[in-house]
Amino acid sequence: MSLIIDVQQVTKKYGNNTALNNVEFSLESGAPVALVGPNGAGKTTLFSLLCGYIQPTSGNINILGHSPGNSALFGRLSALPQDAQLDPRFSIAMQLNFYARLQGMSSKQAKIDTLRVLDMVGLQDATKSLPAELSHGMRKRATIAQALLGSPEIVMLDEATAGLDPANAKEIRAIVAEHADNVNFILSSHDLNELERLCDRVLYLESGHLKQHQTQDNNVNTRYITLRVKQAYQDLIPKLSIIPSVEKIEMTQDKEYLLTINSALSANNVEIDLLKILIKNNWLYSHIINGKTLENQLF
Ligand code: ADP
Repeated sequence: MSLIIDVQQVTKKYGNNTALNNVEFSLESGAPVALVGPNGAGKTTLFSLLCGYIQPTSGNINILGHSPGNSALFGRLSALPQDAQLDPRFSIAMQLNFYARLQGMSSKQAKIDTLRVLDMVGLQDATKSLPAELSHGMRKRATIAQALLGSPEIVMLDEATAGLDPANAKEIRAIVAEHADNVNFILSSHDLNELERLCDRVLYLESGHLKQHQTQDNNVNTRYITLRVKQAYQDLIPKLSIIPSVEKIEMTQDKEYLLTINSALSANNVEIDLLKILIKNNWLYSHIINGKTLENQLF
């Protein structure tokens, strides 16, 4: 796997306000990466630095072997801001065609690429539509199509599903998942469940500081199971604690438990032992997750 982004000791100050403080990370090409953090944490500042819209106060950023904003990156990296708008006066295809031409494509190439990206987001029938004739979700997909013009290697989507109903948000996630083999997506979102499903790696920003999280634990013997049950059952913790490889059980929230599994303690299949105990006690579960939820990793 090759390094696509290398950020070294990057600090960004706006006057006396430090938006990013000595941020360091590197990303290899692969599964989507999540950028998470509360409002004001510095996510937009980081996106803007990676795009070359603003310069760091100190530190270095290297993207695909170049500095952000370098003309060598045109067409290789794209970003979709959360509030990206379509022009209400022109059809979807006309607008995408225009942006493709701006990337330097010939008229013929631009038409072909416009149809390709509209097909990628399931809008092949909406080429002649004006933005006002599309639903909110379809307009969002059209802006994602714009970000995919020219087949960039890195695509950054800022809050791509914010404000969408669950069905439309699911469609956007499906687009990302479907194309993640060919595109390195960086996604910011407030929806931790969404990022958990799509991303292997999480960059967590808090007050300008970066904390990194892997959705998989690196310790070969230790793993986690998250169990959510339908009701609060008495004796659940002592009864599950007899499973030989269960090292610890914590209640993470109402009716949700985090089991720390140490596979060195027993070769038994812990999931089977767990299900047997649930069935024997007539306890109903709503889900069993292999690993920690992202929420439990971060907070
Ligand atoms: P996020 O996208 O995570 O909400 P931002 O990157 O927008 O965070 O903001 C990080 C911090 O930098 C905040 O304290 C914000 O007020 C400040 N900030 C962002 N942009 C500017 C700017 N153009 N001028 C001054 N301060 C800014």
